[in-house]
Amino acid sequence: MPEFIETLYDCYGQVFRIDEKLHEIKTDHQHLIIFHNAAFGRVMALDGIIQTTEKDEFIYHEMLAHVPILSHGNAKRVLIVGGGDGGMLREVIRHRSVEDITQVEIDRQVIDLCREYLPNHSRGAFDDHRVNIVIDDGLNFVRTTPERFDVIISDSTDPIGPGETLFSQDFYAACRRCLRPGGILTTQNGVFFMQKEEVATTARRMARVFDDWHFFAAAIPTYIGGIMAFGWGTDNPALRRTGLDILAARYRQSGIATRYYNPEVHRAAFALPQYMLEAIGKATNE
Ligand code: SAM
Repeated sequence: MPEFIETLYDCYGQVFRIDEKLHEIKTDHQHLIIFHNAAFGRVMALDGIIQTTEKDEFIYHEMLAHVPILSHGNAKRVLIVGGGDGGMLREVIRHRSVEDITQVEIDRQVIDLCREYLPNHSRGAFDDHRVNIVIDDGLNFVRTTPERFDVIISDSTDPIGPGETLFSQDFYAACRRCLRPGGILTTQNGVFFMQKEEVATTARRMARVFDDWHFFAAAIPTYIGGIMAFGWGTDNPALRRTGLDILAARYRQSGIATRYYNPEVHRAAFALPQYMLEAIGKATNE
């Protein structure tokens, strides 16, 4: 039976049995494969790196969408950078209070093929009347757009290939420019235990740009090696300390039924282990 061997790390990885290959192509930007696996359902990888699976995507998309939007409390305009599979867009449009969503994706073929082969990810989200899809490099977009946003979600690949620009100092600075007062940037920043240097680099870069920066975390089984770090940057330090009672009221008000996210998990996600705090220069021995 054919296998998919992930190549994110040259000395450690995961193997999926390919029970059925659904599509494989070299797009203008990256190699894409979508296949079915008995344990994880339909799986997509880009340039040899697992991007998303039907079975565990809800964890990642719920946390990276609902933590910033429910922390903000009045997000009207949301920008998604990357996110070609449509899972993030699906979660964002569930917020009826959000009036306008722009998604900037560099590779149109990812959107087209995920609509066809991963329909459970977007579930029609790309056709929502509030959605505006822009095919562009996310860095170029945030550098040049005259638009302003309440929440920016960087749902990118890893900092390899086209995704590299989305981890640059320029990108964070440009996102800061595009945020309205009280706005929040959240980012996919890799599995901390395996990508510690990437997280530490993001910490240094975010610290130069944002009044308040931190990380929150969740464990997604197919992002192997432990908890995934999500970057957080904003001009308002109070936002990541939003009280449980306020989060709970907003969560109820949203009417969104989730499978991973809840207000307690939201609050707890910002509590980081000591070795992670040390790596980002926030360890205190109090
Ligand atoms: N959940 C995944 C993860 O955590 O690795 C990411 C999913 S999504 C498939 C990543 C998307 O980022 C892809 O659709 C890819 O085409 C897009 N992407 C990569 N580099 C980009 C760039 N510079 N600008 C915009 N989109 C980019």
